[in-house]
Amino acid sequence: MNFKDKIRIIPDFPEAGIRFKDITTLLKDGAAFRQAIDALCTAFAAEQIDLVVGPEARGFAVGAPVAYRLGAGFVPVRKPGKLPAETLRYEYTLEYGKDALEIHRDAIMPGQRVLVVDDLLATGGTTEATIRMVEQLGGKVVGLAFLIELSYLNGRSRLADYRIVSLAVY
Ligand code: 5GP
Repeated sequence: MNFKDKIRIIPDFPEAGIRFKDITTLLKDGAAFRQAIDALCTAFAAEQIDLVVGPEARGFAVGAPVAYRLGAGFVPVRKPGKLPAETLRYEYTLEYGKDALEIHRDAIMPGQRVLVVDDLLATGGTTEATIRMVEQLGGKVVGLAFLIELSYLNGRSRLADYRIVSLAVY
């Protein structure tokens, strides 16, 4: 299957000039969704993944089924103020302003093998923030998995120390 056939491109969303990759068209296609999740799991089947860590919100839709299929746990990464227990926070700069993500401090045990999963790799900022938090808690990031990679934004070079698998590259 060519996953690009299942991804809808929305021009000028969320702002003018951006061609948004809409994965809802892939998610609602049962065969395509299953094939995408299976492909990501196959790529990391030999890695003995303990935990999948996924940032909200689309990282949940992709990460949770990957975790289930691998027999791993799932750990959510969220915007500030959403997680109920004690959190670790990572702040990072964007082109305009700042952003932050949080993870539960007790979500990862030292030495656990972690796969970071999100729907899309763009600049790599979200993934880098997620990796930093996982590593600060002692987790070992063994790979990064995405449905989509926007190669022209060079996230891959920013994350050069990690094995990256993406199913559709633009
Ligand atoms: P990055 O931090 O790598 O620059 O951006 C990746 C994050 O932005 C991901 O969490 C992803 O969900 C979101 N994102 C950015 N652009 C798009 C897009 O065109 N389509 C989708 N589905 N998500 C996007």
